[in-house]
Amino acid sequence: MKMSALSADLDVQRLFGKVNFIAGEWVAATSGRTRDCIDPATGNVIATVDEASPEDARRAVLAARATFDAGDWPETAVAVRSSLLSRIADLLERDKEELARIETLDTGKTLVESRIDIDDVVSVFRYYARLALVSSDRVVDVGDPAVVSRVVREPIGVCVLIAPWNYPLLQISWKVAPALAAGCTMVLKPSEVTPLSTIAFARLIEEAGVPAGVVNLVQGSGADLGPALTDTGDVDFISFTGGLATGTTILATAAKHVTKVAVELGGKNPHLVFADADWESSVDQVLTGVFLHSGQVCSAGTRLIVEESIADDFVAALVTRAEAIRVGPGLDPGSETGPLVSAAQRDKIEAYVALGISEGATLRTGGSRPADPALDGGSYYLPTIFDHCDRSMRIVQEETFGPILTVERFTTEEDAVRLGNDTEYGLAAGVRTSDAARGERVVRRLRHGTVWLNDFGYYTAAAEWGGFKKSGNGRELGPAGLSEYQEVKHIWNNTTSPLAGWFTAT
Ligand code: NAD
Repeated sequence: MKMSALSADLDVQRLFGKVNFIAGEWVAATSGRTRDCIDPATGNVIATVDEASPEDARRAVLAARATFDAGDWPETAVAVRSSLLSRIADLLERDKEELARIETLDTGKTLVESRIDIDDVVSVFRYYARLALVSSDRVVDVGDPAVVSRVVREPIGVCVLIAPWNYPLLQISWKVAPALAAGCTMVLKPSEVTPLSTIAFARLIEEAGVPAGVVNLVQGSGADLGPALTDTGDVDFISFTGGLATGTTILATAAKHVTKVAVELGGKNPHLVFADADWESSVDQVLTGVFLHSGQVCSAGTRLIVEESIADDFVAALVTRAEAIRVGPGLDPGSETGPLVSAAQRDKIEAYVALGISEGATLRTGGSRPADPALDGGSYYLPTIFDHCDRSMRIVQEETFGPILTVERFTTEEDAVRLGNDTEYGLAAGVRTSDAARGERVVRRLRHGTVWLNDFGYYTAAAEWGGFKKSGNGRELGPAGLSEYQEVKHIWNNTTSPLAGWFTAT
């Protein structure tokens, strides 16, 4: 096994020996196949992981099924589940630095970002540890004192949790924490591009004392393992975060079994800037909103929609700032943003830039790899801005998932709202204005799951996250993020055992 120099101080073999976790055992994959994990900052192999076979994935589903059906875990007292969640949060805090380094090596994001990710993961576990203790059961008055009618929440059952590569640990934690809080069992499938932090995470779940079979983990590509995980009547709920095309495939597959599916998909997120907006924070936040993590963020503000009267100056200010962004290895404290996750992702971005040019957009900056030869081994790409874009261009409509900002202009508030909603997606949007009344009007008219007013990119474990339109159909975080993992049952208890009194002939 080769390791990149930067990862030499991580005990890769200890962390990633056997990487599939089924029924409480770390097991060798039966496929005989392995996959190299590449450090996108250098192109070096960090670790080589076993890839599960479809049969392994099927065994993981059956392990989760058997554990759920045995009844012990779903019937565990909520106080016990809550303290397990707190224990997991404690362990994540203990191992924060190691987890952050793993995330940076695997994804390319800066260490500062990875540390923030781990803090957020901890806060999600702490939040659901608290929420698990709050019962949302209710008593219903049916107008008959002999009847006790209750609506109760029960764990939905066996869950398949599928995550993308841009926030590997963060995205899987938004699923695992509420699933555990609800009393579900589960199979985790991280992205084959970035499996490492989820392996370390599963080891912490085991260490925390979560019973065998509750959390299972399989590694491999979606194409290989997808059918075993989604085309089955043994799964009660699939929570998927990833791209639109994969999401629609999973929805169609699961429909055959009437399996509930929540999909959290992509975005093409508008950032609306009115002429009266605070200048400095607007330039700063539009820049951060699109170029953080080199644009590989589902809620990245990739469409700047700016009022015509300030557009030229605003774009010029952005270009100056974008050219000053320090692109480099995520483990280098001097880097402000890292590489793209893989060479394949950079190929995709390069194709989009070529497309933007051919569509007639004006390339104002970027549009190439960094000139620094020290970065040649990694999959770096410069922050790129296209001005004079319009709705007909594919770079305005499609999620590029890289460091590309497109600029459109508006003259009226009506126009701004129309452009902001003129996308098949509806994940997130930003509005910048110093007119409070207008801010509130525009925020309410935008058809997006999260809208930031004079801020951008923030979320909290206690508030729901999810998309309108083709950005998805579910909600994560907040109370709704727990409800996804629960069935609702109505219990009608007649304490007098009366006759129905309908068919009277004997
Ligand atoms: P992807 O759709 O290629 O893959 C996501 C996951 O699905 C991976 O684990 C992959 O192996 C798996 N998969 C692929 N085909 C499958 C199949 N047929 N059956 C089952 N699983 C399958 O997405 P990606 O490239 O990893 O992630 C980027 C996408 O994720 C972007 O579109 C981004 O916007 C989206 N995303 C959305 C959110 C959100 O909260 N809405 C958050 C993060 C990322």
